[in-house]
Amino acid sequence: MMVLETSGLTKTYRRKNVVNGVNMHVEKGDIYGFIGKNGAGKTTLMKMVCGLARPSAGGFTLFGSENVSQGRKKIGCVIEQPALFPRMTARENLIYYSKMQGCDKSMDYERILGMVGLSDTGKLKTKGFSLGMKQRLSIAIALLGSPEFLVLDEPINGLDPTGILEVRQLLLHLQQEKGMTILISSHILGELGKMATKYGIINQGNLVEEFTAEELNQKTVHYVRIGADHRDKACQILQEKFGIEQMQVLPDASICVYEQTERIGAMNRELVSQNVTVSYLAVEGQDMEKYFVDRMGGM
Ligand code: ADP
Repeated sequence: MMVLETSGLTKTYRRKNVVNGVNMHVEKGDIYGFIGKNGAGKTTLMKMVCGLARPSAGGFTLFGSENVSQGRKKIGCVIEQPALFPRMTARENLIYYSKMQGCDKSMDYERILGMVGLSDTGKLKTKGFSLGMKQRLSIAIALLGSPEFLVLDEPINGLDPTGILEVRQLLLHLQQEKGMTILISSHILGELGKMATKYGIINQGNLVEEFTAEELNQKTVHYVRIGADHRDKACQILQEKFGIEQMQVLPDASICVYEQTERIGAMNRELVSQNVTVSYLAVEGQDMEKYFVDRMGGM
């Protein structure tokens, strides 16, 4: 089921399309990593989805329906940190926001605090919280209405490695145990790689690409590429001497070897010793970081 589908979604500020005809697809159960540099348009898109800004053109559906005000009741969002009251405890902050949102009085605050790992903060006031704890409390506030879809703008921005780990574990828990769908924006590349199931890359308002984690793995795989004169003989040597099974001959007649890439030197030696002329031999492929940076329009 499609939880969020935008079509031609556009926001114009000062005659500039800061979100430009975006077609985005978030399916149920996705942790969707929405990636782009600062100013790319991430927050603006999320604001439109959550009803904090009005589209200039195009639109979107929520939970497969055009009735977005109905759909928004099932969304929890953290866009630009909610103001936490520094002299209140985690629980007191939750109660405050719960009243403000008109949530059910029987709300189980302890359960929500447990979900975000803040059960044991007791009387500690939020002014004494680490940034990671504050971020998790913000997420707890977003969880108040028992949402099915969480929209989080830069939840790992500014966190130290421990804080990033805490938020990552929390989001994985919400997805895996609670079946939540999560849209999370970031300009930090690597950290999303450990949890996202799908990615969308935005550059100057344009969604340049959308792909699954699996597709990303295929794009970022490393391989040894070999240019050789006796192709069949070369393949045979690689198979017999190295036990290589995963290889492929490309249309340009070069051979791609997808395993044992660290043995590139030995492969070269073996081929040459058996009178195969090697004209080209290199490890190719892109890592995730480079892939993203290229798509985002460079750094
Ligand atoms: P991101 O979240 O990817 O950093 P934003 O959505 O915050 O990007 O911003 C996209 C662009 O829109 C930026 O150039 C920003 O300056 C501009 N922008 C955002 N909000 C407004 C606004 N209320 N009025 C005018 N310009 C805005």
